[in-house]
Amino acid sequence: MFCPNCGTRVEAGVSVCPTCSTNLAPHLAQMPPPPPPPPPPSSLAPSSPSSMAGSPPPPPLAPAGAFPPRSKIVAGLLQIFLGAFGAGRFYTGHTGIAIGQIAAVWLTCGIGWIWPIIDGILMLAGQVSDSNGRPLQD
Ligand SMILES: [Zn+2]
Repeated sequence: MFCPNCGTRVEAGVSVCPTCSTNLAPHLAQMPPPPPPPPPPSSLAPSSPSSMAGSPPPPPLAPAGAFPPRSKIVAGLLQIFLGAFGAGRFYTGHTGIAIGQIAAVWLTCGIGWIWPIIDGILMLAGQVSDSNGRPLQD
């Protein structure tokens, strides 16, 4: 750097000019830090003010095979009225149970219908989770 008072070149780190004794410390303090390396050209594009606010973060990804939470009212009513077709269990994702209930109802000429009906009551009571293990929603 150079002394701002007399123009004498002084070494970096020298706080007093050897020629005119000017205190260089304030000037040293004001020296900017080394410039950062030039950014890549792509970042030279003006950034929009909204970049600070940003777009809302994407919603968390649901686990594979997941479906929206099921209503226990819908599941229960489906199961009570259409339990012979396993409707409530298909609704909650329990395809195997649904097929089993269809078989139980039809192979017993309807006697097995007690199973899906009880199942539907349990669904309405909130005792049944969906196939992802989540309790049915109100
Ligand atoms: Zn000087």
